[in-house]
Amino acid sequence: MFQRILVANRGEIALRVIRACKELGVEVVAVYSQADRDAPYLALADRAICIGKSASTDSYLNIPRLIAAAEVADVQAIHPGYGFLSENPQFAEICRSCNFEFIGPPHEAIRKMGLKTEAKRIAAEAKVPSVPGSDGGAVSDADALRFARAIGFPVLIKAAAGGGGKGMRVCRDEASLAGALQTARNEAEAAFKNPSVYLEKYIDRPRHVEVQILGDVHGDVIHCWDRDCSLQRRHQKLVEEAPASYLPIEVRAKLGEAAVRLARTVGYYNAGTCEFLVDADNNFYFIEVNARIQVEHPVTEMVTGIDLVKQQIRIAAGEPLGIRQEDVVSNGHSIEVRINSEDPDHDFRPSPGKITGLRIPGGPGVRWDSHIQAGYSVPPNYDSLVGKLIVHAPTRPEAVARMRRALDELVIDGVKTTIPLHRTIFRNKDFIEGNVDTTWVERVLMPQG
Ligand code: ADP
Repeated sequence: MFQRILVANRGEIALRVIRACKELGVEVVAVYSQADRDAPYLALADRAICIGKSASTDSYLNIPRLIAAAEVADVQAIHPGYGFLSENPQFAEICRSCNFEFIGPPHEAIRKMGLKTEAKRIAAEAKVPSVPGSDGGAVSDADALRFARAIGFPVLIKAAAGGGGKGMRVCRDEASLAGALQTARNEAEAAFKNPSVYLEKYIDRPRHVEVQILGDVHGDVIHCWDRDCSLQRRHQKLVEEAPASYLPIEVRAKLGEAAVRLARTVGYYNAGTCEFLVDADNNFYFIEVNARIQVEHPVTEMVTGIDLVKQQIRIAAGEPLGIRQEDVVSNGHSIEVRINSEDPDHDFRPSPGKITGLRIPGGPGVRWDSHIQAGYSVPPNYDSLVGKLIVHAPTRPEAVARMRRALDELVIDGVKTTIPLHRTIFRNKDFIEGNVDTTWVERVLMPQG
């Protein structure tokens, strides 16, 4: 096992990794930008090193500064968290070439999976169905038209280098295709410095179901069952659950097997997620692999009892998985809500500032993963996730009731948050009955945007 690890991230996930290290008896070094100088979780690390100015490019995205911090602190491994450099194959490769183990998958696998069209090609090789699409990279206008006619409208134009729910555009008819392609290319160039776009069949009101996988460096791969993340606004997840309890067990088993096949095909190890869309007939289509720990990993931890972050560290240290597929059992139901410092009444614009009061819920089956405290100021420089409220209960109805109760206990004063939105969701009949899909928030709950 490593003696010392550096966490190349901030906020809630930095604290989550610090906690895992402490339980493993591994020393942990945190890094911070000037904006995070006073962040309370830094005191929980064995050491904290300033890596630069507040802008991400000067700090959490700055590879030379992170490597310098790792050298100064004399660590053996680097945990990238999620976001920032977590899925940057170059960062993973540089860490390893500087003799720091990157706590994540092989950089070759990150590189292949980062290009969505390449990921779909690998899925086909692994006999995993994908959404019908114009595979093979960028499309010309003529190819796009031919393709859209073949699969039928509506189609979804996607940025080949896209991510984070950005760079997607629905096109409903032939007349608007050329314009939509041009706008999508411009947006892709601006957001991802790569104008390539491709087309996919637009699946009608799908559910988003994803499978957690774990693999060791010795070639053993297992899945830790599924999560439903259908509750999204503008392709950003708001609520996540484990398991996708509306799916028949045979479908869930097939999804798990597909994810494992895919992981094996690219020689994947460490933690990862295979994302799928599921249509009304329970047909599933692979959309992408997330080659990192995900924001919503706690719901899988709650139902399986597996600590995914500790597993990541053990795997990176070369330990065998030591968990057999048949021993991974999904127990009860878990739900997570993302609490963002955003103003739901004003188009979810960020609401940074000082937290003047905080009441954290507790009681049976409640978990709070967050870096905030009363007196802490949410900086304006980074994403707006301030906490994850997670519940676990024997059944979905009990988990929904528990979350409703926990949300009523949670108070965050000083900044606007998504708490009121979640309180509404957990009192909504469609949601309570499980009748939601990825378009539900925009279609039913907030049709005005
Ligand atoms: P990103 O990498 O930006 O998160 P994904 O490919 O994972 O993009 O898709 C994010 C979300 O967009 C999905 O959860 C789903 O809601 C929607 N989506 C993606 N592809 C399709 C599709 N072909 N049809 C319908 N919805 C889609």
